[in-house]
Amino acid sequence: MAEHVAAEVLAIAAHRDDVEQTCGGTLLRMRSLGVCTAILDLTQGEAGTRGSTQDRAAEAAEAARILGVAWRGALDIPDGRVENTWENRLKIVDVLRRIRPRVVILPYWTGRHPDHYTASILGYEACFLSGLAKIDTGTPPHRPFKILYASLYADVRPSLVVDISPFIEDRHRALMAYQSQYANQTAGSGLFVPEEEIRERTFAEARHYGTLAGVRYAEPFVQKEIGLVDDLTLIPVQSL
Ligand SMILES: [Zn+2]
Repeated sequence: MAEHVAAEVLAIAAHRDDVEQTCGGTLLRMRSLGVCTAILDLTQGEAGTRGSTQDRAAEAAEAARILGVAWRGALDIPDGRVENTWENRLKIVDVLRRIRPRVVILPYWTGRHPDHYTASILGYEACFLSGLAKIDTGTPPHRPFKILYASLYADVRPSLVVDISPFIEDRHRALMAYQSQYANQTAGSGLFVPEEEIRERTFAEARHYGTLAGVRYAEPFVQKEIGLVDDLTLIPVQSL
């Protein structure tokens, strides 16, 4: 894993390419605002039908370059066996204490793939534990201020969406960096959708969430906390 650098926003997900699918546009937007971003993938993708872990590491590095993240790392948790264990929590705590993010983006806590919803709970518990001084990992404690759940694939009303309209093409390029997964090919062709359809689907999803907020393309998030505003006249999204 490359040397850790501090970042204000850290996206944590089970698999390489999860972040590209659920919050890549948001990372691009934060980067454009001058905010330092980072990605932690919990697994290395050895259970995938297509491509080796080496392929996926190179693809993840290329996607990270497109997304402009300052740091990307992968833990060694087995692919398809993401479990909420003490050992796994501590691995994430160690990364949190090195990156020291203010905002952590986690997967939404329900879903089809057990790795995804387990990563959500595991990530939340690691964020909590990371703030406890008595848990000694050799790095000073750090508790993130805000946790957002990327809810693109969840059947749930988002708390907020991020306008990614100017970044939609770059987001798509970052996803397509996973050539072993998404380029048209014979291996697993019954299981995987063609490249053209991925573009149509991902753009349609982003368009749907954008429409909810009166912008072109957006990515949805859920926060467990209530929203707070200072000035009623500055609340965005028109009512009628
Ligand atoms: Zn995944």
